[in-house]
Amino acid sequence: MKAVFLDRDETLNHDPGYINDPEIIKLKDSAAEGLKLLSDAGYIFFILTNQSGVGRGKILPEQLDAVHKRLLEELEKHSIHIEKIYYCPHVDEDHCTCRKPKSGLLDQALSEYEIDIEKSFLIGDRIRDIIPGEKVRMKGILVFNKIAPSDKIPSNLIFMAENLIDAAGFILKSDS
Ligand SMILES: [Mg+2]
Ligand SMILES: [Zn+2]
Repeated sequence: MKAVFLDRDETLNHDPGYINDPEIIKLKDSAAEGLKLLSDAGYIFFILTNQSGVGRGKILPEQLDAVHKRLLEELEKHSIHIEKIYYCPHVDEDHCTCRKPKSGLLDQALSEYEIDIEKSFLIGDRIRDIIPGEKVRMKGILVFNKIAPSDKIPSNLIFMAENLIDAAGFILKSDS
């Protein structure tokens, strides 16, 4: 299966910080349209998201579940299905193996699903969303241009997209 691994905050939805209430979830303008283009072309979706608010006690696990339920519902309204959401609840000090830029979340998804890595993509608004794919050489697309001066550009970053519609267009072109 060809898949797109999506970051959550500021990629799919607006992020006022530590979202702990489903009412706060609001999709970015380009999210539904961009993902629809990709799902029509046969891509399946996963979300890989750092949620350190859980580790910091600002988001309860059950609040995060409710937020994710709402996010999935909002996307389903546009006939977009997410296979699974993988999240890291840790803070840096936990030194876990799943907090992006570490690859634990992606590794877990790749172990649970039959994914064609060569035909799959990572999309996120930060370089740390792309880095998890560097080791397995999965291509990455940055949306909304959020490169920080201190960022080291990973070798798998292949495109800087304006938004998710732009990212989808790039993927469809490289797929044809
Ligand atoms: Mg983000
Ligand atoms: Zn973690």
